[in-house]
This record gives sequence, structure tokens and C-alpha cells, in this order.
Amino acid sequence: MAEPDELIAFAGEVIGDQPDAWDRAGTIPDKVVRTLAARGVLCAQVPTRYGGVGLNSADNGELTAFVGSRCSSLRSLMTSQGMAAWTIQRLGDRPQRSAHLSRLAGGELAAVAFSEPGAGSDLSAMTTRIEPDGDAVVVTGEKVWITAACYADLLVVFGRYGDGAAAVVVPTSAPGVTVERVPEPLGCRAAGHAFVHLDGVRVPAADVLGGVGQSTALLVTTALAYGRISVAWGCVGILRACLTEVSGHARRREQFGKPLAEHQLVARHVAQLLAAEQIATRMCAHASHCWDSRSPEMVSATVLAKYVSSRHAAAGAATAVQVLASAGARDSHPVARAYRDAKLMEIIEGSNEICELILAEHALGTYA
Ligand code: FAD
Repeated sequence: MAEPDELIAFAGEVIGDQPDAWDRAGTIPDKVVRTLAARGVLCAQVPTRYGGVGLNSADNGELTAFVGSRCSSLRSLMTSQGMAAWTIQRLGDRPQRSAHLSRLAGGELAAVAFSEPGAGSDLSAMTTRIEPDGDAVVVTGEKVWITAACYADLLVVFGRYGDGAAAVVVPTSAPGVTVERVPEPLGCRAAGHAFVHLDGVRVPAADVLGGVGQSTALLVTTALAYGRISVAWGCVGILRACLTEVSGHARRREQFGKPLAEHQLVARHVAQLLAAEQIATRMCAHASHCWDSRSPEMVSATVLAKYVSSRHAAAGAATAVQVLASAGARDSHPVARAYRDAKLMEIIEGSNEICELILAEHALGTYA
């Protein structure tokens, strides 16, 4: 099993100083993505018995925060890959886990497809159909904004099956699959977001994960739990990157005869960023502890971590742009990227409003 520090050092070397260029190009070179995937960095919680790295949630969280501090597009690929792996691990039977997890741990790339034109926050409105046909199933539907789909070898697709729902593993090379890049996304511009058209795609029935006709809520909640904790740690990374940029600039840049850091209103911005990073880190560490100790609090702690971290990342990135002012007001500057990327974190894996609804229900059930 690799040590988390080794994986962080390896990722740091592979990433180098390229993220601004990737953001401008709207893509990450295949070699970079494949190198990290083959080392297991993109889904580092896959157990060693399936060829994975076998990190626990806390260590994978710090790895995710590190990658997120450098490049939210690459961190988005990690989230998708890890979410696909987690879904297969939780919903798949033993042969499915053996077949698919070893592919992901070995370097194949995956994306997870829930959202549709008419089903965003309300995934019970999904219309994608998964229909039995002999020893195959046929998948038909439209998916939107699927992160990493432009890079993916396989998709975990959620849809209706009979009176219930199912999730199925679909190769992107299968006849009937079309992947169409989302043009000019606000942020995470190199994350390979795509519209995915599924036109009568036949896949073996053996690739329907863990049986058919399950509850949509159960399937979706299982997958999103990983997505949420991964995004939450990614937001910690955004805050750390902003702290680095802000601290350096505030010490170097002088106005009114002294460094910006010595102006108390600027110092307050630095203090608030530090507090945001510490709050987000602790929320994530607590959620990961719940994962690692299999605590029943895991789901609520994860939603809370994602909600708090994404709000702080969006506000913190705006603060960072404010402190750097014209120095950070260029599209590919790290704080400008952070500003665009962080806003998206308030929308995905359950928007902040949806998180608030979940948290309110939890509070009312616990404290009433
Ligand atoms: P809507 O559901 O139309 O919501 C619009 C607004 O109304 C939001 O502010 C929402 O919070 C609010 N709202 C909706 N319902 C309620 C309610 N009941 N109470 C209060 N407020 C409400 N999908 C995937 O399947 N896979 C991916 O990998 C993926 N990656 C994404 C990456 C990015 C960068 C983005 C932007 C989206 C991605 N999505 C992905 C889609 C994402 O999951 C949806 O955008 C998200 O669930 C919100 O759905 P929507 O955009 O349709 O907004």
C-alpha cells in the first residue's frame, strides 16, 4: 500500500505548473490523466484486493485537497473516478467489483451520469430507460453536464428500470453512445464536462449493478455520498491555494508606503481566509472520520462538510480576488480560477439549497 505522502509527491510532480495552461486549453493532456489513473491516484480508496491503493477517507481527503489546491479540473476527474468506484463497490456484487474496480484502479477512466435536461435537483424525474432484452439491457436517454465524460472509458449510468431504478456500467465505445463536450463552462474548464446521448445502447445484463428495480433515492444517495466528501475536500484545497496566493501577495505588494498585510482591513481578509480554511478542514476531517469509523453519522456529516466547505470556498475565493485586485484579475490566474471553480462547488453533488433541505430534515429529526 502506498503512503499518502508518496502519492501527494507523485501527483505534485506530474501536475507541475501546468494547471493554468490546462484551464486555458480546456483540457488536460491524456498522458497526465492516464499516468495518475494508472498509479491509482484518481480513486485512491479502492481496496488493495482490487488492485487499488487502499487509502482511508481521511488520507484520500488530504490527497484530494492537495490536487484541488493545484487544479480543480483534475480534482473533478478524481471525484468522478472515485464516485464511480465507490458506486461499484457499494452496489455491485462480487464479480462486478472484481471486474470493474480493477479496471479503474489500473488506469481506465470513469464518469457518473445522473443529470438530465428535466432532472437536475430532482433526480426522481430521470427518464433514461434501462430495459431488459435477453441477456442484455438496452439504455436510452440524454444525460447532461457529465464531468469527466470526455476522458471516460466507461460511464456509470442511472436510469429507470421497470417500476424502480438501476445503475449500469456502459463503455463509452459502445455503439449508440455519443459524448458532446459542454462548450465554455464557467469553471473547472478542463474537467471534460459533456452531454451524453444514449441511443439504444446494448450492454450485458451482468453489468447492471447489484440487481434491478431498486429505489432511486438509495442508488443516488450512495453515489453522491462519495461525490460530496470529495468535493468538500476539493474546496479545502481551493481555500489553501487562495491562502498561499493572498499571503504572498499581501507581504510583497506595497501601497501607502507599507505592505498590504500591514493595512488592517487587508489583514482581516487574511484572517477570515485562514478561519475559512480551518473550518472547512475540520468539517471534512470529521466527515472522513465518520467514514473511516463507519459511523451512522456519516451521511449527515458528509452533507454538512460539503455545504460548509463549498460556501467558504466560494466566499474565500472572492476574498482572494479582492486582495490581489488587478494582479489576480486575469482569467487564468490561480485566484481567478479559484473564483470560477469554487462557484460551481455550490451547485454540484446537491446544490447548497438541496443540502440545506437535507440538513434541516436531519436537525428536525435530531433536536425536535
Ligand atoms: P435545478 O435543479 O434546475 O435548480 C435550479 C436552482 O433551484 C438551484 O439553485 C437549486 O438549488 C434550486 N432548487 C431546486 N429545487 C429546489 C428545492 N426543492 N428547494 C430549494 N431550491 C431548489 N451531473 C451528473 O449527473 N454527473 C456529473 O458528473 C455532473 N457534474 C457537474 C459538473 C458541473 C460543473 C455542473 C454545473 C453540473 C454537473 N452535474 C452533473 C449536474 C448537477 O448535478 C446539476 O447541475 C445539479 O444537480 C443542479 O441541477 P440543475 O442545474 O438542473 O438545477
